[in-house]
Amino acid sequence: MAEIICITCPKGCHLTVDEKTLEVRGNSCPRGEEYGRNELTHPVRMITSTVKLEGGRFRRLPVKTSQSVPKEKMFEVVRSLDGIVVHSPVHVGDIIVKDVCGTGADIIATRDL
Ligand code: SF4
Repeated sequence: MAEIICITCPKGCHLTVDEKTLEVRGNSCPRGEEYGRNELTHPVRMITSTVKLEGGRFRRLPVKTSQSVPKEKMFEVVRSLDGIVVHSPVHVGDIIVKDVCGTGADIIATRDL
């Protein structure tokens, strides 16, 4: 049995996952079951970060991935944002990087700036 904490919401349920059957216990909702299974088979994470912004009130634009990306790609994705420069104006939901690092996820703006 693997013991993990669900990080899908602030409740933080303590999950136990059977490594053979992938049966999940301790979850309070279906999202925890999915999270528990994914953690043992193909863990994924949403990424939030910032990129350089020019021509706006602030120097950094907050961004996030449009969907979860494989956990092993996290550092590659974050590193790839180092050289990105965006010019104001930018709107919430604007795509800053399409298919970042071949993950299928886009990097999108999370603020109007
Ligand atoms: S199992 Fe459901 S309620 Fe519990 S932490 Fe995960 S998402 Fe939240």
